[in-house]
Amino acid sequence: MPFDTLNCGLNTPDKEANVLRNHALVYNFAEVEKENVALMGQVHGSHVEIVGSGGIYRETDALITSKPGLMLCIQVADCVPLLLNDPVRNIIAAVHCGWKPITSGIAEKCVQIMTEEFSVKPESILAAIGPSAGKCCYEVGLDVAEHLKPEAICKHDSRLHADLKKELWLRLVDTGLIAQHIDVSNECTICNEGLFYSYRRDGIQSGRMLGFIKMKK
Ligand SMILES: [Zn+2]
Repeated sequence: MPFDTLNCGLNTPDKEANVLRNHALVYNFAEVEKENVALMGQVHGSHVEIVGSGGIYRETDALITSKPGLMLCIQVADCVPLLLNDPVRNIIAAVHCGWKPITSGIAEKCVQIMTEEFSVKPESILAAIGPSAGKCCYEVGLDVAEHLKPEAICKHDSRLHADLKKELWLRLVDTGLIAQHIDVSNECTICNEGLFYSYRRDGIQSGRMLGFIKMKK
């Protein structure tokens, strides 16, 4: 049922008190204080913000920090949550990767900022591509498919399915990340109703999951 379990979507029709309580459960699990949690407005754009404190960053789809103890969060239900970690320079990033941010180059932009601002080498970055709409279920029109690499499009009879994780993986490798440093979840949010929220499956009644990354203090 919608909103049954740990809905962390701040902009859903769920009761705000419930959502805030669910956030508190996650923060407790992650051993982080609320004031050290950074959230994004997530507008399917390509703005990247370097942050040093908690709060809600509007008009933003990616956060980067060098601050230990600060938790970067992504709210998702089908879009790809991408987490980056450079263990050499101690820089982390959380990126909201719907098809628009991905094809706008938001992941490449993050890697570039990490490289230029923090002297990170792409080959030392570790990446995690989380559960999201899978190629098994994520049907798209030509308007979306035309932006994707051919390897990220699957044909199902006359229909087109997008493989956003593949698109993102290809872009990260093109940017200099080592393939073996990119962990990719096999899970599809749309066809795994018992585990995940899915906007494509449940529409406006869908909750959101929280992807997060934090460096230990
Ligand atoms: Zn599926």
